Amino acid sequence: MSARDWIEKDFYRELGVSSDASAEEIKKAYRKLARELHPDANPGDTKAEARFKAVSEAYGVLSDAAKRKQYDEARRLFAGGGGFPGGFGGGGGFDVGDLFGRAGAQPGGMGGGLGDLLGGLFNRRGGGAASATRPRRGEDVETDVRIDFTEAVRGATVPMRLSSPAACGTCGGSGARPGTTPRTCANCGGAGLVTRSQGAFAFSEPCQDCRGTGRVVDDPCPECGGDGVSTRTRTLTIRIPAGVDDGQRIRLAGQGEPGRNGGPTGDLYVRVHVNPHPVFGRAGNDLTVTVPVTFPELALGTTLTVPTLEGKVTVKVPAGTASGRVMRAKGKGIARRDGQVGDLLITLQVAVPNNMDAKAREALENYALATAGHDPRPDLNALLEEKGRS
Ligand SMILES: [Zn+2]
Ligand SMILES: [Zn+2]
Repeated sequence: MSARDWIEKDFYRELGVSSDASAEEIKKAYRKLARELHPDANPGDTKAEARFKAVSEAYGVLSDAAKRKQYDEARRLFAGGGGFPGGFGGGGGFDVGDLFGRAGAQPGGMGGGLGDLLGGLFNRRGGGAASATRPRRGEDVETDVRIDFTEAVRGATVPMRLSSPAACGTCGGSGARPGTTPRTCANCGGAGLVTRSQGAFAFSEPCQDCRGTGRVVDDPCPECGGDGVSTRTRTLTIRIPAGVDDGQRIRLAGQGEPGRNGGPTGDLYVRVHVNPHPVFGRAGNDLTVTVPVTFPELALGTTLTVPTLEGKVTVKVPAGTASGRVMRAKGKGIARRDGQVGDLLITLQVAVPNNMDAKAREALENYALATAGHDPRPDLNALLEEKGRS
């Protein structure tokens, strides 16, 4: 794609957000659209697929703070002809390509800044003339997977369907109908750039005939329409290592987008989301569980059987144990692939009955009478007494 195409596109409108939308808003809008337009949800709907591509492209730029800044700056500079200083346009009509050429060739001042900016655009997108034939590494791709708590602890293999732009399988990425080959662009001789003279200066700009690629496709591939890019749906099996934590990213080398011109393939990053467990929590490699106990169990001591993820564990609670005490069952936590094993942390918490029958109530009242001489909060009462005196 040429820089001109890029700037003429309204990525904000594509995502349905305002141009001052926050990164979070952009992400949210993209997620929603990507779900609606996903090829899996719209089989055979070429309109949806085109929108999916456009939305993905827009998100690719707007989700990257540096790219977004460049895009915003470029759009601000090229927004309509009106705002641009006069004397720059070549004989009437506003021509973006014109501006590109001149701006890039003027070192220092405003032109130099533009040249840097557009150079950045070209290199990032890879569609520009400068990198038309240079090998370029494929983009990294990020995706999300959601697994259960137990799967995260034990490790899991998760099948995933992944849709991403990829070199078209029908034409091998050339954009030409199978059996034909793209020809070298006659206008630029394959360089992707044309040079024009303007007064004392010579300016290079992306070739309009070949859109800066240096090659022209006469008979476009029916699958990708000449782009050389189509949406590829892949099924991958992802091995999630035991002990993975919520929010962690797993890197799958070489599973991202294919490189251009023989460049290496990018990587795939899978962000793991872990569903919470109804009973167990997690603190690093330790599992946590809260066990409700009765007051007599803590006061008199007891032996508790507590479930673990793999089975159960027996815990001896000594007489006179405080509520809130944390007991540790060694080695009953999360066993990671690297050999680290966590513990199970058991928090004992008194459960107060909210409904007692007459007999239980009487027993408890007797207990209260029998222990009336015992002050459970001497420190606090001492403080209150001090305050009463002053
Ligand atoms: Zn194709
Ligand atoms: Zn050309």
